[in-house]
Amino acid sequence: MAMQHFLLAVLMFFFGAALASFFDVLTDPNRLRKRRSYCPHCRETLRWYEMIPLLSYLRQAGKCRSCGKKIAFQHFFGEFMGGLIFLSVFLTVFLGLGFGGRRMDPWNMSALVYSSLVFGYFALFLLISFADTKTFLVSLSWLLGLNALALLLLFFPQHPSSAFVSLAAGMAAGGLLSLVSFFHGWKKLGEADIFIVVSMGFVLGFAGVAAGLISASVSGIIICFARKWGGSVTDIYRMKLPFAPLLLLGTIFGLFFTRFF
Ligand SMILES: [Zn+2]
Repeated sequence: MAMQHFLLAVLMFFFGAALASFFDVLTDPNRLRKRRSYCPHCRETLRWYEMIPLLSYLRQAGKCRSCGKKIAFQHFFGEFMGGLIFLSVFLTVFLGLGFGGRRMDPWNMSALVYSSLVFGYFALFLLISFADTKTFLVSLSWLLGLNALALLLLFFPQHPSSAFVSLAAGMAAGGLLSLVSFFHGWKKLGEADIFIVVSMGFVLGFAGVAAGLISASVSGIIICFARKWGGSVTDIYRMKLPFAPLLLLGTIFGLFFTRFF
């Protein structure tokens, strides 16, 4: 990787982490309006150097600088995920590190618009994952927006599959998930997850969405059993697990199985 690509990759990672930090605050159900970020324990307003994504948490060893109470690890994890997402999109869509991909020409206008739309899709996906993790409620307009962004991608020559194949992949993935939730009777899969999976098919095509769905399901099963063995939950079938963040991780994984440009 050339030096400027390495610097851009680092920049992308921190931009993603900063965006995740913002979404984290935005989706907090206990957020006080028009108040700067504060410690939930001592209510002290945070200074700018206590709000740097990832780095503040590491520097303060996961503790509040005023009262010394622990800051929940999930904030750090969310920011790390945000960074990982933007880094992965940069590596696969821009640099073509996926299977047989090619490097994007940054002076091609339609390629630039296409990759901006991919970033927009993942940013909205991240916002949805935060909302799902905190409240298990996702706004329908966000889900429709996610699918609208995914559908827009089909009109670009850079898209990995033809519009017809992408549409078929989305419908097949959504249909499969609907069938599973219908026959299995699992309450875990909500309508939101079906919307998300359809958009994944539009973006990734058949191979990518298959890789994404398998990795999301496997990681979900591992988390369920880890929680059972950890003793925090006894009945594995009643466990409530936000599926959107796992689907997001799966989509990132699927990107590396998708050939862009
Ligand atoms: Zn505090």
